[in-house]
Amino acid sequence: MATSSDDPSPTDGEGDNIPVPRVKRRRHRPLKVANQIPQRRRKEIEKALEEPGSTPKKWSRSSDWKSHRIGRKLVKPGTIRQVEFDLMDIEIGESWPIPITVVHGARPGPVVTIIGAIHGNELIGPLALTYLQSANIMGEGMAIDPSSVAGTIRIIPIVNMPGYRRSTRYMSDGRDLNRFFPGKENSNTTSRVAHRLWSQLFSTSDHIIDLHTAALGRTNMPQIRANLANRLSNRSARAFGIELILDSEGPKGSLRRISDESGISCITYEGGGSDESDPESIQVALYGILNVLRGLKMIPGYPSRPRFRLLASGSVWIRSDYGGLLDVLAPAGSFVEEGEVVATVSDPENPGQMMDVKSPTQGLMICSATHPFVTTGTPIGHLIPITKAVKTVQRRLDEEGLLVLSGTDGEPPWREDEEIEDISVEGVWEGGSPDAEWGDNLRAAAEEEADEA
Ligand SMILES: [Zn+2]
Repeated sequence: MATSSDDPSPTDGEGDNIPVPRVKRRRHRPLKVANQIPQRRRKEIEKALEEPGSTPKKWSRSSDWKSHRIGRKLVKPGTIRQVEFDLMDIEIGESWPIPITVVHGARPGPVVTIIGAIHGNELIGPLALTYLQSANIMGEGMAIDPSSVAGTIRIIPIVNMPGYRRSTRYMSDGRDLNRFFPGKENSNTTSRVAHRLWSQLFSTSDHIIDLHTAALGRTNMPQIRANLANRLSNRSARAFGIELILDSEGPKGSLRRISDESGISCITYEGGGSDESDPESIQVALYGILNVLRGLKMIPGYPSRPRFRLLASGSVWIRSDYGGLLDVLAPAGSFVEEGEVVATVSDPENPGQMMDVKSPTQGLMICSATHPFVTTGTPIGHLIPITKAVKTVQRRLDEEGLLVLSGTDGEPPWREDEEIEDISVEGVWEGGSPDAEWGDNLRAAAEEEADEA
């Protein structure tokens, strides 16, 4: 079945200079309770939150607030310092130093560690954390001003430096760092690195924000994943100010799971895909990080709230029943109806035929395939079924049927219009078309095996 008249290509307003118009509407009251968490799990969460002893720490103003120590390096209160941390503690050979920016506030408070690229090819985190340190956001008189910060913010844009340098998800030995926490001192390379990171940096944090993207071949609508039965993670997840929170413990050996088990709050942000820069995902990440810091009372102001909040503990993977090449009609972020054609599959070996992939239910596509090659069984989308408060969600859709996320309205915070200088470039394309020289790199990356994000 061929698709009908509308242009089926997923557009998000990039490329051309005309942005997708956003429908401005008046504010609607946020939903107090989301509808997706089953009663049994909701009771578990409520019970966990009622248990005594997990109230947030009180920071006494009189307590002596000393310099913050990372390894042998000290950061004085009220200052920002970049330090290096070696992933390996060795006498000879590559120690893989990674940069850490420490904002050690003038006043006492919690230690928050914000990290990107535990998976080396997930670049939304490194981009967001670089922009977080831009002069528009960090420094005197800005949102993060060390003289007014309470507590310590440790920013680590790239955790998996060996993977980042080679543009791969994995560590140098081919293992997934985010399956090896808390790690072992005398085990394999990845496990040693995990151990060092855990013992020196993560276990000494009160809160962790871990920035990810979908694995290769897929892209995620911005979302938070957290164990909502952990009181502190629950608070941070909500404070992030995002529309979608998935209640999940995280895979075995993941930083989120181990942190939760150790009483440390940890939330995972997912937005965009591997090997790509998605401005909207970066914008939501920055917006959320600042919200969490405000929620923890580490920086001035109150966290912004989303128009509604979906708390989900279940989802549906939509899989292709055909083999061939995929054309996604409802990309990540789309609201879809039951029976709606979300993608088509065509087969170059059988031209003229096109098969529809339909959504089994009404809901929100929170992840979609970006790699067109599919075989039968290949997941092409991840759907959150939505049966209640449908109108509330629909009010926030743009003309393409894509959810307009909180934090994406307005200008990206790291860009200031008056600082942008228009420069016209005149000349010719030397050495061929501007579209050349993309193939090899992408293909090599796509051949790599990728599992769950
Ligand atoms: Zn990841």
